[in-house]
Amino acid sequence: MMLASLQAALKSHKKTNLARSLLMGTALLTVTGPLATLPAFADQGATADAKQTNPGHYSFRLGDFKITAVSDGTVMVDFSKLMNNTTPEEVKRLLARHYLGPQVETSINTFVIDTGEHVAIVDTGAGEIFGDFGGHLVENLKAAGYQPEQIDAVLLTHIHGDHSSGLVRSGKMVFPNATVYADKQDVDFWLNPENKAKVNDTLKKGFEWAEQSVTPYLKAEKVEAFSKDGELLPGISTVATHGHTPGHTVYEVESQGQRIRFIGDLLHIRDIQFARPEITIDFDVNSPEAARQRLAAFNDAVEGGYLIGAAHIPFPGIGHVQRDNGAFEWIPVNYSAQVAEVK
Ligand SMILES: [Zn+2]
Repeated sequence: MMLASLQAALKSHKKTNLARSLLMGTALLTVTGPLATLPAFADQGATADAKQTNPGHYSFRLGDFKITAVSDGTVMVDFSKLMNNTTPEEVKRLLARHYLGPQVETSINTFVIDTGEHVAIVDTGAGEIFGDFGGHLVENLKAAGYQPEQIDAVLLTHIHGDHSSGLVRSGKMVFPNATVYADKQDVDFWLNPENKAKVNDTLKKGFEWAEQSVTPYLKAEKVEAFSKDGELLPGISTVATHGHTPGHTVYEVESQGQRIRFIGDLLHIRDIQFARPEITIDFDVNSPEAARQRLAAFNDAVEGGYLIGAAHIPFPGIGHVQRDNGAFEWIPVNYSAQVAEVK
């Protein structure tokens, strides 16, 4: 999907299948579906008829900690146009196995880690950039019992619009009491005007979103850019997984011997990339490294038997990885309605 075809689609005012495109730094994400009448992705005041039908939060205990998956919304993505190391036919076949068409309603998940001492959040969703598809983090956070002011650490897996744009609303910090943690290589890459100057107008959007979301925190001296793996907060450590972006990072949380890893964009589409981890997506800055990191993460999760929390696996995006005849399989957690509290 190129910008020209988006503009053509917008011009045609088609009632159905009108594509909105969203930049995530390196490529366009094709958005179609119930909000087809939206004039353009820049329309931030768009009203949606796609109200959430389920609670946007899901909590469970991890040792002494409380983890809460918080939904930022869902966005329609046409995966038949985005995947590499494959064919559109294979993509359609893999999706059909899961009773899905090429356009998949894709979750945008964030995760609160309440240690009793700190309240951290992994990623911040899309903020204003996807209209009403995204930007539901704050309302769902409040419904889960947390105020944005309580968050004292934002842990960015990487600086792509659907992970970092929720840092701000109307240019103001959504998490005024938080330190924003991100890998130095991502901060240096996305906030360097020289890099932005090198790319075409289409790709510039990803850099602009990075600037808009992170700059208020930089000005307030609230960004902590790390450059090697280590423990950021008690029980929360970084695992460098560079590839999808130059500083993509996994966060590992451990309490009382129980472990979860928040894997960000090590995968985008459950129904394709567990079966074939070598299939990459246009959004990867370094595709071979992204594929290598995905495979290593899946193998490690199987060996370690720990939980995974993923940004784009259907909400709540919490589960385990299992091997399945040479491929991998996603095992979602068993649903729990019991109240989880911090010990
Ligand atoms: Zn990404």
